[in-house]
Amino acid sequence: MVSKVIFGRGSFNQLEDILAPKRLNVKAPFIYFVDDVFQGNDKITSRIPLGYEDEIIFVSAADEPKTSQIDALVEHIILKFKDRPSGIIGIGGGTLLDIAKAVSIMLTNEGEASDYQGWDLVKNPAIYHVGIPTISGTGSEVSRTTVLTGPEKKLGINSDYTPFDQVVLDPELINDVPKNQWFYTGMDCYIHCVESLTGTYLNAFSQSYGEKAMALCKEVFLDNTLDKKEAQDKLMMASWHGGMSIAYSQVGIAHAMSYGLSYLLGTKHGLGNCIVFDQLEEFYPEGVKLFKAMKLKHNIQLPQGLCKDLTDAEYNTMIDVALSLVPLWENALGPNWKKTITRDKLKSMYSVM
Ligand code: NAD
Ligand code: ZN
Repeated sequence: MVSKVIFGRGSFNQLEDILAPKRLNVKAPFIYFVDDVFQGNDKITSRIPLGYEDEIIFVSAADEPKTSQIDALVEHIILKFKDRPSGIIGIGGGTLLDIAKAVSIMLTNEGEASDYQGWDLVKNPAIYHVGIPTISGTGSEVSRTTVLTGPEKKLGINSDYTPFDQVVLDPELINDVPKNQWFYTGMDCYIHCVESLTGTYLNAFSQSYGEKAMALCKEVFLDNTLDKKEAQDKLMMASWHGGMSIAYSQVGIAHAMSYGLSYLLGTKHGLGNCIVFDQLEEFYPEGVKLFKAMKLKHNIQLPQGLCKDLTDAEYNTMIDVALSLVPLWENALGPNWKKTITRDKLKSMYSVM
């Protein structure tokens, strides 16, 4: 679990106080990975407490993080600074948070990031790392994984060293998120709740967080009485609780199939989940009904026809990626999931997306 968290509008201003005691020496910098959407945006960058040799590295969130990208960032830091950094701070959405987590792990572990994709392969504790979300939904701020696309697979580095040492939850930071992206990433949280709460892995721990996150999602996306600030505060907490819910259970069919879309077509996580979930009435009737109501209320049109021109080989790649995520299928449908989910079934499901 994340060991320290602060929450509150304007809490980003406490960053200097949080970091100062963690500085190892004047040559050991804090490295900030910041979404390049904030480049030249004083609301964020002028409040980053740079000192000594600290550095801001702007990173684009246009593509999801790759293992090769992590290796290149780690190499840059090792070559540039003689001393190991005092800490890594990620400022952005799931993309930047996952980059910060992965870099902090790879600074203390030998080899390449792809060597650690899987469960509990990390040997040494990561360096001190801080997560500051600027968009809410993925739960990456609280989760035990950093999802990376490698040469062979899209799979997280899941380990006890992955979670942040400190998280700063400042709902003011999500104020300028574009509406469509707000919906897609918010729906990632909603889908985490549905998949966790209806899954066979559910337990009292996951359920207690999942139910709270679900209730918050319903308020944020369906309740007309919330003002913008309340909705921001609540969505940030929904993301946190949704992440906590899947930490002790699993996601399900939308995530398994969305990983296939992402691997082949580069479809981003939130959007991919929405495109898949929209077609999953057969498996999640209640959840999909509510999703469609939210989509309608916020006037969201999802892209269509993504798979219409795909070749058989391309379908097979997506199906292989989706089928490789065994725990997700098992959570969704139980141990006999292979009776329902055949390659033909998956092809017919993808073909309407
Ligand atoms: P993102 O980080 O990719 O950002 C989406 C878009 O929103 C980008 O264009 C970004 O520049 C923009 N943006 C972010 N904050 C903004 C702000 N305040 N104002 C204006 N624009 C802003 O989106 P995401 O949905 O948060 O993250 C997706 C990533 O998270 C994927 O790589 C996925 O694999 C990962 N993920 C990780 C976990 C985990 O537990 N580690 C869980 C779910 C998803
Ligand atoms: Zn997700």
